[in-house]
Amino acid sequence: MGYSEHIYSSAMKELQSRKNRAESEQKARHDEAAEKIPELIEIERIMASAGLEVVKAIGMGADANEFIENLAKKNLAAQKKRAELLKAAGYPDDWLKVKYTCPICRDTGFTHGRICRCHKELLRSLAYKELSDSVHIEKYTFDNFNLEYYPKNIDTKTGISPYERMSEIFEYCKNYAEDFGTDSDSLLMFGETGLGKTHLSLAIAGVAVTKGYGVIYGSAQNIFNRIENEHFGKETNESDTVQSLIDCDLLIIDDLGAEFVTQFTKSILYNIINMRLQSGLPVIISTNLTPEGLEKNYERRITSRIFGEYVTFAFCGSDIRQLKNL
Ligand SMILES: [Zn+2]
Repeated sequence: MGYSEHIYSSAMKELQSRKNRAESEQKARHDEAAEKIPELIEIERIMASAGLEVVKAIGMGADANEFIENLAKKNLAAQKKRAELLKAAGYPDDWLKVKYTCPICRDTGFTHGRICRCHKELLRSLAYKELSDSVHIEKYTFDNFNLEYYPKNIDTKTGISPYERMSEIFEYCKNYAEDFGTDSDSLLMFGETGLGKTHLSLAIAGVAVTKGYGVIYGSAQNIFNRIENEHFGKETNESDTVQSLIDCDLLIIDDLGAEFVTQFTKSILYNIINMRLQSGLPVIISTNLTPEGLEKNYERRITSRIFGEYVTFAFCGSDIRQLKNL
């Protein structure tokens, strides 16, 4: 699970507030009962002192067992008395229990030193929310990707049928999403505007994030703007965008080449691509540029890594967005 730092911290905040809420609700229930049943406080004092006195048993030798047994009896009797009093006053059995959202980890997010199921679920839903806040992820699924927009005839220029080519790409992407893992391949999607590159990469993102993977999606322009703003201090909130881009489970850079390319953005891009190749984490890049255009815009050290290591797809057909408007 490679989520961004602020998703982890939002999850911890949410867990803490669940825990606080459960405990303060329990306290309110307890205070209410204590007001109705004055003996309750005394009984609880006995229960607490029995717990503390166990310490005295250390060093008692042979007498320790009997001493502990007596304490246990005292404690049990007090518990029984308390239950009877609560019942008589009309309270249910669990009135004084802290009702945690997750009884397994008591809303701490960890159980036996491992991350609890509730915590994983929370991270997953926060990641999904973050992704859907930045883009209408629910609109881009495999189910609503329509292959019928691609001509079936063989294009005389390229010698291929766009429909067949796109059917293959579609199948690949669908399987890729179904089998997605942090060791999945990186993909490079070429092609002109409106051929479905963004749609398919977001469909993959939707499946991956639902499976519990941390996905960061952004247009190259937005990603670099954000890094520049942080780097040059326009945003006071010192964040860890670059680190998140390096560490997340799946990084999707949309529309590479549409951004304003500078020495700074080139070195950031190289750094991200290189680090992710080293750690084996997948990236999906889409671009309207041709391979030659990419080479012209970026340094060879960047493009050679992408061409050498990424699975490449050339999208073809006619602009779907225009066809949809006909
Ligand atoms: Zn839990």
